[in-house]
Amino acid sequence: MPINKEAYLGVKRVIGEATVLVAVSKTKPAEDILALYDEGQRDFGENYVQELLEKHAQLPSDIRWHFIGHLQSNKVKNIIPFVYLIHGVDSLRLLKEINKQAAKAGRIADVLLQVHIAEEETKFGLDAAELDEVLTAVRSDPAAWANVRIRGLMGMASFSEDRGAVRAEFHTLKQLFDAHFTALTGPASNILSMGMSGDYQLAVAEGSTMVRIGSLLFGKRG
Ligand SMILES: *Cc1c(COP(=O)(O)O)cnc(C)c1O
Repeated sequence: MPINKEAYLGVKRVIGEATVLVAVSKTKPAEDILALYDEGQRDFGENYVQELLEKHAQLPSDIRWHFIGHLQSNKVKNIIPFVYLIHGVDSLRLLKEINKQAAKAGRIADVLLQVHIAEEETKFGLDAAELDEVLTAVRSDPAAWANVRIRGLMGMASFSEDRGAVRAEFHTLKQLFDAHFTALTGPASNILSMGMSGDYQLAVAEGSTMVRIGSLLFGKRG
């Protein structure tokens, strides 16, 4: 299925210059990614390690690959040499493995901590207290964490028709983001990754700096 160029331009218009668009290309073929690449898109998001490795090997080297899925510790080493940003870090254990593998690869890995904001039980992420614990652990011993840089937060809202409820979830995440990131270092280089095809406008209204959009651009996944 061809990409939806009109939707792409529409999203770019709505989010403006200040918000980064990550085009979520999971399950979609390389040719679809190239079609969007030819429109100037460089940030792409993938959920599965094996699929990301194959696409990375096959596609232009100036693509910024975002890992947005649930990352297993034993697969960190495979993507760490090239991944641009890991969105879904939800435990100190995973962060530790990222730090270790990044040190081995001689780089500093940029990551986002995933916060659980949705009603649904099934979504991954830290609660507010766990977020506090992870940040305290890392910030109290920077030398031990020299190969990871926590750039901000990521979250997924409920799949709900209730726009008010979804918006409130994004609002909660924005407040945590401001408390833990913006307040300390200013807004410049911090990232708040929230908003998908169905709810990105609400996310942007609540202060998202990065949206992750798949089906709107590439069509429904099978
Ligand atoms: C699949 C996925 C998206 C994109 O979802 P769409 O509804 O297709 O835009 C965004 N974020 C995460 C974490 C995903 O897994």
